[in-house]
Amino acid sequence: MPTEIKTLARNWNRILTKFSETREQQRQLANDLAHELRTPLSMIYGFLQRTQQRSDNLNRFQKESLDMAVEEAERMIELLQNWLELTRSQENAMPLPMEIVSLNKLLKEMAQMTQKFEQRLILLEIPSSEICIEVEPNQLMQALNHLLENAMQYSNPSQPIKIKLTVVDNMAVVEVIDRGCGISISEQARIFDPFYRVDTSRARETGGAGLGLSLVKRSVEKMGGKISVRSELGQGSTFILKFPIVGGHR
Ligand code: ADP
Repeated sequence: MPTEIKTLARNWNRILTKFSETREQQRQLANDLAHELRTPLSMIYGFLQRTQQRSDNLNRFQKESLDMAVEEAERMIELLQNWLELTRSQENAMPLPMEIVSLNKLLKEMAQMTQKFEQRLILLEIPSSEICIEVEPNQLMQALNHLLENAMQYSNPSQPIKIKLTVVDNMAVVEVIDRGCGISISEQARIFDPFYRVDTSRARETGGAGLGLSLVKRSVEKMGGKISVRSELGQGSTFILKFPIVGGHR
């Protein structure tokens, strides 16, 4: 190999090593910051809540400011918790305690619960034959719950949400379908990145920090599944989960 190429390859390797070291340092710094901020923030939240409970002698403006401060503190705590959860799941190589789960049953329960507590119409389309997959049920429920919450948040309350279960090429396919605002093709590639929000003002109103989908992706992949999205602006979005089925399709 000519010396120039060898030098170039060596320099390239050096740059890549430096780059990954810097990324690791940044990640560590963000992690340490989240840990450091959590305790004082929880204390501030506690003080604010106690003041809020004894706010009878405050005027309307003071009460409103206090309510806002409590809300913002809540949002910050949730953000830090999600961030720590995300980094923990990145570091934690421990396998999850997996169980064989009937998707028909789990989806039926989730649809009933969501319909009851969120007062939103949930249409369920599942086959009569039982479809089983191997997952950690709580993690799967959390992931589905987040997809359902997003579907409800980013669509009109009068629109139903559909949950559909099918089998394609020995994979169980769960789709969460909404007829909401949709996501453009260019944004679709980024929504699974931590802290990515399509429209910061819209997401801020709905309270999200842009960490939810990255957590969902990580936990789905950890359980051997895949997540993808199909969406059209103004038409709605479909989030698709795929898991290998267990024991064949009966
Ligand atoms: P957030 O907590 O902000 O909702 P997520 O990680 O769950 O964060 O989602 C990232 C972004 O993807 C959201 O800010 C939103 O803009 C977009 N998004 C997620 N789900 C939907 C959906 N069903 N319809 C339209 N946009 C969505």
